[in-house]
Amino acid sequence: MSIITKPNPYFQMSQLQCETDTGIDTLPLASESSFGSWQTTIPEEYWSLDAETLVKRISEARRDLGPEAIVLGHHYQREDIIQFADQRGDSFALAEYAAKNDQTKYILFCGVHFMAEAADILSTDSQHVILPNMEAGCSMADMAREADVKNAWSELEDFFGSTDDIIPVTYMNSAASLKAFCGENGGVVCTSSNATQVLTWAFQQGKRVFFFPDQHLGRNTGHLMNIPLEQMVLWNWRLSPGSLGDVVPHALENSKIILWQGHCSVHQRFTPQQISDARDKHQDAQIVVHPECRHDVVQSADANGSTAFIAEYVANAAPGSTIGIGTEINLVARLAKENPDKNIFCLDPVVCPCSTMYRVHPAYLAWVMEELTKGNIHNQISVDPGVKTHARTALNRMLELR
Ligand code: SF4
Repeated sequence: MSIITKPNPYFQMSQLQCETDTGIDTLPLASESSFGSWQTTIPEEYWSLDAETLVKRISEARRDLGPEAIVLGHHYQREDIIQFADQRGDSFALAEYAAKNDQTKYILFCGVHFMAEAADILSTDSQHVILPNMEAGCSMADMAREADVKNAWSELEDFFGSTDDIIPVTYMNSAASLKAFCGENGGVVCTSSNATQVLTWAFQQGKRVFFFPDQHLGRNTGHLMNIPLEQMVLWNWRLSPGSLGDVVPHALENSKIILWQGHCSVHQRFTPQQISDARDKHQDAQIVVHPECRHDVVQSADANGSTAFIAEYVANAAPGSTIGIGTEINLVARLAKENPDKNIFCLDPVVCPCSTMYRVHPAYLAWVMEELTKGNIHNQISVDPGVKTHARTALNRMLELR
């Protein structure tokens, strides 16, 4: 099944190339490259099913499960998954939706691992959160391991004599253990929609912010709050403990934000050159990008914001508008399809989908749903109760800011 029903001259499918896929159409699981590193415990029969069969089988399982199950679909999922979503949205909106539907027994979370963890943290004990493919992680979240963050924190404690004035802020795109770390240390969680509000709160609590895992969201938000770039230092977590993250002591002393050296592999692909090429080609083009893009990219764009912001930006644009977008290709393709009166194109002519999100192949959704109809639960995400308590504290601090 194709994600685009109508050819769009601005969206060039033939140019989609990356190590994971050569397109965004669903192939049988066994034919999608890199599947070998995905969860391999799925039964053999699912590996060869084509998209049409999978869609049919998911529809049947969906019908059999009825109100016992909801399917949540992140904006970056492929169309063969998103068509089953009771709710689509960004990570936090989906976790909130799961929490609101507290009578639903099964939450099929078609996103990545940290998102399913957040849904488990916010949902009730009687609900089961299921991630169709346990290998669907997030390369950004993986750049901030609990041990590395805790090592950095104790180095900061040694350097400053105390961490009382440092507020840890973790982006939603992080493991539950890091949300818990923030909860335990007077910190908070932020999303790409509320980062300014959260940092404003953090600076009311302390002198500096320790921001992880996405350096770009942290830097772009700090810039928006008029914090000079030189007061946002970059902590290189790859160095051995004792290296002070490769930050010069004088710079650390003067810092307002200590940025973790993490990034999103999808958004880091966008460049100012792509924006300038887009403007050369379409002189009336408006450019909107995600704040996970590099600072120079965000500075060159007309607007930046979360996935919800981008979708709204496109929806509110006048008919006939030309809009170049810097975010994940499945969302851009969907916006192009849903806004046929506008010319929507992706800034990067050679774009990978989010390769980890892409691991939620429909074969996995069909498998976990069909098993649920037989009463078997696979791939349940269960956050440790202690971690849950502290992570909830950090999430609730964020919610109270709304
Ligand atoms: S788009 Fe980037 S941040 Fe989002 S899940 Fe994929 S790798 Fe992680």
